[in-house]
Amino acid sequence: MNQLFPINRNRLLQQIENQLVWDVLVIGGGATGLGVALDAVARGYRTLLVEQSDFAKGTSSRSTKLVHGGVRYLAQGDFRLVREASIERGLLCRNAPHLVKNQTFIIPIYSYLDMLKYTLGMKIYDWISGKFTLGDSLFISRQKTMQSMPGIKAGGLLGGVLYHDGQFDDSRLAINLVQSILENDGCAINYIKVTGLLKDENQKINGAIIKDVESGEIYNINAKAVVNATGVFVDAILQMDNPSGKKTICVSQGVHLVLDKKFFPSDNALMIPETSDGRVLFAVPWHNKVVVGTTDTLINEASLEPQALEKEISFILKTASGYFTKKPQRIDVLSVFAGLRPLAAPKEGQQKTKEISRSHKIIVSASKLFTILGGKWTTYRKMGEDVVDRIEKELNWKHKKTPTADMHIYGYAEAVNWNDPLYFYGSDTSKIRERMNGTANQWISNDLKIHKMQVEWAVQYELARTVEDVLSRRTRALLLDARESIRIAPQVAQIIVKELNKN
Ligand SMILES: Cc1cc2nc3c(=O)[nH]c(=O)nc-3n(C[C@H](O)[C@H](O)[C@H](O)COP(=O)(O)OP(=O)(O)OC[C@H]3O[C@@H](n4cnc5c(N)ncnc54)[C@H](O)[C@@H]3O)c2cc1C
Repeated sequence: MNQLFPINRNRLLQQIENQLVWDVLVIGGGATGLGVALDAVARGYRTLLVEQSDFAKGTSSRSTKLVHGGVRYLAQGDFRLVREASIERGLLCRNAPHLVKNQTFIIPIYSYLDMLKYTLGMKIYDWISGKFTLGDSLFISRQKTMQSMPGIKAGGLLGGVLYHDGQFDDSRLAINLVQSILENDGCAINYIKVTGLLKDENQKINGAIIKDVESGEIYNINAKAVVNATGVFVDAILQMDNPSGKKTICVSQGVHLVLDKKFFPSDNALMIPETSDGRVLFAVPWHNKVVVGTTDTLINEASLEPQALEKEISFILKTASGYFTKKPQRIDVLSVFAGLRPLAAPKEGQQKTKEISRSHKIIVSASKLFTILGGKWTTYRKMGEDVVDRIEKELNWKHKKTPTADMHIYGYAEAVNWNDPLYFYGSDTSKIRERMNGTANQWISNDLKIHKMQVEWAVQYELARTVEDVLSRRTRALLLDARESIRIAPQVAQIIVKELNKN
């Protein structure tokens, strides 16, 4: 396993044409769909995953980048979810150690009540994690807090509560999951959109109509089980099945800002358990910058390109400025990204929306369309397992035990040097470095440490098709520094054009 294999999109299309019937067709190439598809291939089912845009184009590349038990769910008393997520956090650290880092967080303490509350709360968090804990939490003094978190506001500080969670690169994990699916003889392809569902004479789903977004070509796909894993777009697929069906979700937006490290030059992440709008705010070191977020704003419609509102950006800047000694201004923002979370749509007569529990939910329609809602990145594996278990049960397939809890993700590598700008390639790092030899001066961006070879690699081995695929999800340039990404975009385009043999 884990050998180098160029991925040719035409070959994947050929595979789709040649396969008469798939066991499982997964719609959506975000965390959820990838988790379902990997579970299905790992059990030996012939599996196809289609993504209308690029893998992780939706919420799955726009998360806070935490692999966490969920301190927030602890506060809500959802111990079962915290336990489930803590186990998954441990498994992901074990199976993708090249992408998941043990990250120390500090909650700055400014009152004695908070000191008691959070010291105790984080002990419970440790206890729930059991053997999957990433390290013990503890209360640290004011002096230690200031040493450990340079840049934190000192006025009124009593100390800090230090705890451990995981931190990761979301879209890189998505790409590695695609590679794992391919490596296990499954098929996962981007820029293929489901435009309709197929049903048999008993009105049971037995496939889908798909469109190659690049060529416009239409295919009919036969599949024994079809899974709707389209995140905030689930209703569009549910309506293909039942046009008179009610909306199941509405959408809320979470925004993050990326700042230079000078605003928070700490290796430890900051966690503010309750902002003025009642949310959690994080400032997390990431790829030599700091990610600060998030907000919670109800919006009208789901979109693949959600736009941050100026009021959300101001809110984050203002809240962060309350804790940072160096106050960031609007001009200091290097990048902004917004992700969408599903909320349960209000039922008739009900005024308010409520958050869908981060514990996922599986809906099986009368037509046997399998829809998965909610959940989080951290629990993508368990969500995949639960969906495939449910398919086996509903369709009377013989149960096969999933091997994914012990399965290394593509790129698996131990002994990661987190300071290496190529660390996130895991086991491919040395191959990329080898290819760089002799072309050492071909850095496209010195600031972001992006080399020409990485663009070629993204096209040849990671199914990148567009400039944005490369800048946003194969490298994280666009999320780290939007101005620098605009500067290098023409060069990236030239390399892609050459690699894809286009004009
Ligand atoms: C602001 C924010 C921060 C978060 N931070 C964290 C975090 O730190 N840690 C954590 O564990 N979780 C986090 N989460 C939760 C986590 O990011 C999501 O649960 C997860 O990414 C959802 O993945 P998904 O696959 O369900 O949806 P998506 O990532 O949105 O994927 C759905 C995909 O379906 C595709 N699709 C839609 N329609 C079609 C069609 N017709 N044909 C083909 N494809 C289609 C879309 O293009 C899209 O790519 C966060 C969520 C938000 C909103």
